[in-house]
Amino acid sequence: MPSGKEFGGRRGGTTKKNAFCSFCRKSYRDVGPLVEGPGDVYICGECIELCQSILDQERKRRGSSKQLFTKIPSPREIVSGLDEYVIGQDAAKRVLAVAVHSHYKRLMAAEEETDIEIDKSNILLVGPTGCGKTLLAKTLAKSLNVPFAIGDATTLTEAGYVGEDVENLLLKLLHAADFDVEAAQRGVLYIDEIDKIGKTSQNVSITRDVSGEGVQQALLKMLEGTTANVPPQGGRKHPEQQYIQLDTTNILFVVGGTFSGIEDVISKRMGSRSIGFGQVGDMASEMSLGETLAQVNSDDLVEYGLIPELVGRLPVITALQPLGAESLVRVLKEPKNALTKQYQHLFSMEDADLKFTDKALHAIAERAAERETGARGLRAIIENVMIDIMFELPDQPRGSRYVVTDDIVEGRTKMFNDETPKSKSA
Ligand code: ADP
Repeated sequence: MPSGKEFGGRRGGTTKKNAFCSFCRKSYRDVGPLVEGPGDVYICGECIELCQSILDQERKRRGSSKQLFTKIPSPREIVSGLDEYVIGQDAAKRVLAVAVHSHYKRLMAAEEETDIEIDKSNILLVGPTGCGKTLLAKTLAKSLNVPFAIGDATTLTEAGYVGEDVENLLLKLLHAADFDVEAAQRGVLYIDEIDKIGKTSQNVSITRDVSGEGVQQALLKMLEGTTANVPPQGGRKHPEQQYIQLDTTNILFVVGGTFSGIEDVISKRMGSRSIGFGQVGDMASEMSLGETLAQVNSDDLVEYGLIPELVGRLPVITALQPLGAESLVRVLKEPKNALTKQYQHLFSMEDADLKFTDKALHAIAERAAERETGARGLRAIIENVMIDIMFELPDQPRGSRYVVTDDIVEGRTKMFNDETPKSKSA
């Protein structure tokens, strides 16, 4: 080890005129100040940064395998973590928690005894739009402290056609892991809209089914566990490219889809066609749709158009319930980052106090329920309601209090003509 004195590093101005970096051979005139070591050795800033990133990578690589799995939360802990962000969906939460806990436990066991084979427990989530499928997967990954990425099955096509290769999904995971391959290999990848690549789905191309069965086959390989060649720049693969090899064996795949109309397949199988499906928000039909979806099994998925091999690789199937108006009210106020909390935070930054009456929340929820996009509609509606208030807020006296009522939501009154301070002229 060189002593501090030897390594004290003289500034570029004082280094010898002909000094150059011993690593990249560039002159100090080109690269700026050099740090001097013992015996005419120099290093430039660029090389120091490079060394730093090499060391960081190495540290990450070594650290990640141990740190990630020193403790795996119990299913109960996982569920309570999910409860903080996701409203309802209790059945799905339990199923997910058990599957995920076992998956990572097997990984940990495999690290100690290499002869234990890891069975994958990839998960399929069935449920209408905006009921929390993505949110569940995302929250899970967060509580496990593993990289997480979201991909979309509809962008994929069979190799050789316009569209994306399935490897691009893995690239997203690599990105999420900052290109730490070890970490990415244990991440969670959520693939949305898996129902849209069914082979019986209305295919406009009469010549080839490029986005259906072929894609399912490619996904199948990835789900089973393979060493995939991931193009670091994304896009289509081509022969001259350098690839990053990623082993997908320990990646947890969560796939989701709305599978609209699958309730008919289920009820046909169960021999009852008496169940009525009305609008979401209508309590009776919401219950029956939810109850029917809860009965979904692998046969129904095959009937719907997924190839049996792919379904076989998704041993954990769970259904999410449509969110009715009551649940939507809870979504508005209960999760850790609930929309109303976000607005209240924004207001508190202006020293203002914001409240929503229960009736107002119900009015927002009812409107969202009408849109049939689950909790997704909430944001647009609340943004719309808040726009005038947000516009005026910074010009209002500090310490003001605001109450959003159902009248404001319904557009019957405006915020700035009753109990709140008058704007501008005030
Ligand atoms: P999808 O089921 O279509 O994947 P998402 O999980 O993406 O739906 O949900 C969209 C948004 O709606 C989420 O970002 C979240 O804010 C909200 N949301 C949906 N379902 C729930 C739920 N069960 N609890 C809390 N928020 C939810």
